[in-house]
Amino acid sequence: MSTESHLLYSQLPAIDRLLREPAIEPLVAQHGQTLISELLRRLQAQARDAIQQQQRLPAWCADWPLALRAELARQQRPALLPVFNLSGTVLHTNLGRALLAQPAIASVADAMGAAVTLEYDLDGAGRGHRDRAVADLLCRLTGAEDACIVNNNAAAVLLMLAAVAPGKQVVVSRGELVEIGGAFRIPDVMRQAGCQLVEVGTTNRTHLKDYRNAIGEQTGLLMKVHTSNYSIQGFTAAVDEAALAQLGAEQGIPTATDLGSGSLIDMAQYGLPAEPMPQRLLAAGVDLVTFSGDKLLGGPQAGIIVGKKALIARLQQHPLKRALRVGKITLAALEATLRLYLQPELLAQRLPTLRLLTRPQRAMQDMAERLLPALAPRYGEHFQLRAEACWSQIGSGSLPVDRLPSYALTFTPLDGRGATLEALAERWRRLPQPVIGRIGEGRLWLDLRCLEQEGALIEALSA
Ligand SMILES: *Cc1c(COP(=O)(O)O)cnc(C)c1O
Repeated sequence: MSTESHLLYSQLPAIDRLLREPAIEPLVAQHGQTLISELLRRLQAQARDAIQQQQRLPAWCADWPLALRAELARQQRPALLPVFNLSGTVLHTNLGRALLAQPAIASVADAMGAAVTLEYDLDGAGRGHRDRAVADLLCRLTGAEDACIVNNNAAAVLLMLAAVAPGKQVVVSRGELVEIGGAFRIPDVMRQAGCQLVEVGTTNRTHLKDYRNAIGEQTGLLMKVHTSNYSIQGFTAAVDEAALAQLGAEQGIPTATDLGSGSLIDMAQYGLPAEPMPQRLLAAGVDLVTFSGDKLLGGPQAGIIVGKKALIARLQQHPLKRALRVGKITLAALEATLRLYLQPELLAQRLPTLRLLTRPQRAMQDMAERLLPALAPRYGEHFQLRAEACWSQIGSGSLPVDRLPSYALTFTPLDGRGATLEALAERWRRLPQPVIGRIGEGRLWLDLRCLEQEGALIEALSA
């Protein structure tokens, strides 16, 4: 080590001394000595690295209390940070999918801070398991005989297969062997559930006789999977649920559908792309239907299985149910969300997912035109700002080809450089409440469909 760096190292203050500094002592009182000492040690290590690499003290060493406060602020920024979702995808899996309705948020807050009647009967009626109240609501809404709730729809499919067809063959069309983002693949789930996948038909065409010919001694389930993230077009044929359910009933084999998203209300009445409804599949004779809590349903992350009483009982009693069950927070949110469906006329106002999906393009256009003059002074020097028509996606389990007309605020760099665009997107990702847009066609798009607090966005982008 050179004498020079030796001299620099000796200029680093000792932790003990720093802890007693008047500007640092109050931070120790507020946050405790453990955390503050750890952060100071970390800063000291950074300073040592700088000395080793550059043979000089970093500039921040002139003010240790300031550096410490900056480090504290960095540490306290939660990893799960609220963002402005202006990506144009309403149910964005990477941004946490559905926003909960106010009554669901209130129920969750109540359930978190108090003991609750999770598996406790106030009337001594012996209602049984923790899903009971939510299952009763689901029966009322879908006409199902019973229901079961687990952690997500992937878990619902896994539990259903493991409980209904253990060690048996499960027949699925080759056109429906889906992969959903995040490594949910039907053949893999089958294997994990201890079932043997039997593929029938072809990629584009599967007929009822294909299912019938596959049925044998070992068949435990006939299953359909909703092809939620792709579509097969052209010369195609698929067997509908009613026909498959009839075949299952004739042969004494249960039938099931993994619906992915599904919707408890008819989306077409709002001018939205039609989505299959669990109640219609049950009415068509399907024994079990699974779907997600946080896709179009607009609730918390959960997997919902509705259907026949005897089969649901097998799910409830299976050891995997204990591993995949949900807690009181999820049940509180799900119950409050489902209650909103009892007043369907009010749903488009009260359920954020539906409210955002049904927003008319005009509302986003008006907003874009109000935001334009508010943001032009701040960005006009380097970007051309425009209000432009665009297309939003529903996201999670709805066809990517189904688009909703929307409006965006766009930022085109005056220097025409992609790097300027990337830098802007990067800067917005670093804001206290990050703003998430989408880059395309040489500009940054802020799709306003999911913006409900205009003022907050202006404030965030003007900082
Ligand atoms: C989304 C989806 C799943 C997975 O649901 P999660 O709730 O994300 O676990 C499974 N199957 C289909 C068809 C889906 O669309």
